[in-house]
Amino acid sequence: MAFLEAKKLLAPEAYDPKAVKVGLTSGAGVDITWADGHESRYLFGWLRDACPCATCEEERGGSGRKPGEPAKANPAALPMFKPATRPTKANPIGKYAIQFDWNDGHTSGIYSWQYLRDVCPCGECGRPKVSG
Ligand SMILES: [Zn+2]
Ligand SMILES: [Zn+2]
Repeated sequence: MAFLEAKKLLAPEAYDPKAVKVGLTSGAGVDITWADGHESRYLFGWLRDACPCATCEEERGGSGRKPGEPAKANPAALPMFKPATRPTKANPIGKYAIQFDWNDGHTSGIYSWQYLRDVCPCGECGRPKVSG
């Protein structure tokens, strides 16, 4: 995660999820209430584009994308119908992470709570620097 901007370290409870809601059936996304009272909402499509596995990280790094930033569509390519990205299954990994089986077949991303809090897309935490 070397491409992430260094952020000030939050208190340990900031990385401790008090309540996690995964809207598997609604397709809404993931809501996390943290022990420090902060609430984060992650849309599934955003989470897929923020997949922390080595392959996706490398892909994002190569194109200069931040976690959650969708790949730029090739302007020469015809627009293609893409079904909404959502997980078919969410699996807790011990006490520290959650893993999704995505409907595109990708399953290797393990989202630690620390990672999720660090990439929280809310207005308060997100976009520390506006680029472009
Ligand atoms: Zn991945
Ligand atoms: Zn936030």
